[in-house]
Amino acid sequence: MSTARTLSELPNINAGTHPEEIYRIGRDISGGPLTMACSFSIEDVALLDLLSKYFAEFTIFAIDTGRHKEETYEIADKVAQRYDVRIEWYFPKKEAVEKLEREKGLFSFRSSLENRKECCHIRKLEPLQRAINGTSGWITGMRREQSVTRSDQQPFEIDHVNGGLLKINPLTYWTENQLWDYTREHQLPVNTLYHNGYTSIGCAPCTRATQPDEDVRAGRWWWEDPEHRECGLHRK
Ligand code: SF4
Repeated sequence: MSTARTLSELPNINAGTHPEEIYRIGRDISGGPLTMACSFSIEDVALLDLLSKYFAEFTIFAIDTGRHKEETYEIADKVAQRYDVRIEWYFPKKEAVEKLEREKGLFSFRSSLENRKECCHIRKLEPLQRAINGTSGWITGMRREQSVTRSDQQPFEIDHVNGGLLKINPLTYWTENQLWDYTREHQLPVNTLYHNGYTSIGCAPCTRATQPDEDVRAGRWWWEDPEHRECGLHRK
């Protein structure tokens, strides 16, 4: 279901607008069903908490790439129990993973950007496309401060890669400090990897802990140039 909007039709939102208000505005302009992407990051857990009173209005999906760390499955289960929500899990297509691993091995993503993108496409992008198919838009926990690839992110965007769906990013302007303050104040469940130096968590072989002087997504595909460090879920 394409919303077929133009950027000029989307409202301007100032940096002080509460995430809940951003969600409500987005919901009202979406014109149809919504879904929220959840990777169980601190951003996504905080956003779930902020929007918990609206759970009846959207579905929540997660992608099991098959390469997550055990800690991610642990936090996923805790979050589902705490909020008593059903997580719509999506898996990559079995045949595509089998072909990839038979032909290129288990770590092809380390050999080139092209191979890394191929793996992300099979394990993340294709399942994402199925997850958002039939919706008018999707909600994310992305923040501007996370990396150079997100520095110009807007609270509302049009996802041209996925048929012109509305993308609602209620935490766009939140800082790292705001996020952790909210997490502590509300005693939210946290992936234990954050206590071991991880500041952004993705697939096990493509994520490492970061140093204090690095941006929070520096541990994702750290062998690549910073401007390439997106899996493709958030291409523009
Ligand atoms: S993050 Fe790494 S393992 Fe996960 S889908 Fe992308 S390339 Fe594959």
